Order: sequence, then structure tokens, then C-alpha cells
Amino acid sequence: MNDLECHRCRRSLRAGTPDPSARAIRRTRGNGLCPDCVLTYFLQNLDVLRRVWQEHGPEVLRLPHVQTHIATVLNRTQLTPGEIDYERVVANWNLPVSKEE
Ligand SMILES: [Zn+2]
Repeated sequence: MNDLECHRCRRSLRAGTPDPSARAIRRTRGNGLCPDCVLTYFLQNLDVLRRVWQEHGPEVLRLPHVQTHIATVLNRTQLTPGEIDYERVVANWNLPVSKEE
């Protein structure tokens, strides 16, 4: 298997290498997940959001004000909001997320 693709959704981890955001992508390569999947893992494991996913599903991630809120959270992490493709996050929401080894 190509270790330069996300082991969950197969997104290339080399996408946009000339882009400054590639720095963050490289950092997330440690656990083999792309930024979309790192965000998914993060969101699915926040207790305060669990009821949101049960009642509304991941489609709420398409709402601009939700993305704005997430962006403020991401600014305190290794991810940058520009790296996140919310359509992919929603589409891949139910793919299994393996625990980090
Ligand atoms: Zn992925």
C-alpha cells in the first residue's frame, strides 16, 4: 500500500505540496491520516458533539456558520481550515476510523 495516501479515505497526503499548508499535512502523516480524517476523528470523539451527529448527522458540517466555528477551533491545532474539504468529510463520515497505534 502506498504510505503517501490516507489509510482511511485514500486521499493523497502529497496533495498541494507547493502549498504552505503542506507543512501541516506532513505533520499529520505521522498517523497516516489526511486532514479531513484527522478532523473527522476529532469531531466524532468530542462528547459535547455526540448528540449533534445523532440528531442531525454530519451534514451540519456544510453550514457556513458551523465551518466558521470549526475554523476557530482549528486555529489552535496543527490543522489549518484551508486544508479541510468538508464535502469529503461528510462523504467519508462513516468510514471506520482506526485507533492510532
Ligand atoms: Zn483521509
